[in-house]
Amino acid sequence: MLRMSRSGADETAGTEPLDVVRLRHDFPALEQRVHGHPLVYLDNAATTLKPRSVIDAVAAAYASDSGNAHRSVHALSGRATQQLETARARVASLLNAGEPDEVVLTGGTTDALNLVASSWARTNLRPGDEVLITELEHHANLVPWQWTCEQTGARLRVVPVSDDGTVHADDAEARMGPRTRLVALAHVSNVLGCALPVAEITRRAHEHGALVAVDGAQAVAHRPVDVQALGCDFYAFSGHKLHGPTGTGALWARRELLEAMPPTQGGGGMVASVSFERTTFAPPPQRFEAGTPHVVGAHGLACAIEYVQALGWSALRAHERDLMVHAEAALASVDGLQVLGSPGTRNSVVSFVMDSIHPHDIGTLVDRHGVAIRTGHHCAQPLMKRLGIGACARASFALYNTRQDVDALAEALRHARERLS
Ligand code: PLP
Repeated sequence: MLRMSRSGADETAGTEPLDVVRLRHDFPALEQRVHGHPLVYLDNAATTLKPRSVIDAVAAAYASDSGNAHRSVHALSGRATQQLETARARVASLLNAGEPDEVVLTGGTTDALNLVASSWARTNLRPGDEVLITELEHHANLVPWQWTCEQTGARLRVVPVSDDGTVHADDAEARMGPRTRLVALAHVSNVLGCALPVAEITRRAHEHGALVAVDGAQAVAHRPVDVQALGCDFYAFSGHKLHGPTGTGALWARRELLEAMPPTQGGGGMVASVSFERTTFAPPPQRFEAGTPHVVGAHGLACAIEYVQALGWSALRAHERDLMVHAEAALASVDGLQVLGSPGTRNSVVSFVMDSIHPHDIGTLVDRHGVAIRTGHHCAQPLMKRLGIGACARASFALYNTRQDVDALAEALRHARERLS
């Protein structure tokens, strides 16, 4: 069995500060100009740019290793199988999973959370059971549970976001009871940037006999994740938010849970035996990976994880923390701008509104200065309602961003304000 220590990839790296000037050369997309300005890419919570090592690995795989995995006995198929299973082991190391076979390779976070909803939740929820989510969830961690509740007669309950713009374990526990079967929550909010107290909420959920599913979409590129330390039962993430290819990601779940879960798709690769009378299923994770897997994507994801792990989490986190401190000061200097959430709680994501200027106008105008940010409801409409807004603007950082990027954003926002107010 393939095993890879997350800390093994981690501990030797990251003792030096991040050499951002050097590593920016790894990202060819940063070399372009947009509307005559150098690109300032601050939409990393939507998706991240890809390093050349990932792009080259994907191109090389398509050029010469383009076999199908777990299918044929020829060399190309062997290489594809090797790439797929190496990727699984690399994801296991990223999450500090107990073993690679606890990792189901998926199309991303949405895909992974829907798998839990349509397999574990559809099988285990009964009328009157409760699923607890929080008010700040991305729709990907809301809609699947809403549907499953409708289908099973279970009830969806919601932990409110507190006035300080975070979610507190006490507020979560106040909504747990004997019927709580699952708590589904984000590791880091894609709007407020706050990290939820996942380990503490998990501990309390387990005391109530509930399982915990974590949406790690906004965490994995910015902090070391240790599913064993968190104690959670399911963890989902997307490769494209971690400098990997789109259409990749994973669901981690404890082995005994995966073993008890039925597959949600039938087809090649997920069976043990098939006859017209009866089909038996392969053990997990293959049981959940029907059809031809995204081998090249998984290979690219493995390279992306390798890239980030080689930088080291402590250096990466120190860099992104510095950017956030700088951003909070820079945004405070823009007249009429209000930052959402609380200082000191934001992780690589800072959202804001500007008086009387629609966020889409802000986004369009800063784009004219080459600055890419996200505007809209961020697939978190209930949170927008809680904040009393219809939409907001969001800047989000990655390892290649600089203080100059933040200054360019603040300058572009000042221009936008001059134009529109
Ligand atoms: N969860 C959170 C917190 C997100 O920010 C996102 C994407 O923005 C998702 C889930 C969905 O990710 P994907 O579209 O890659 O499946």
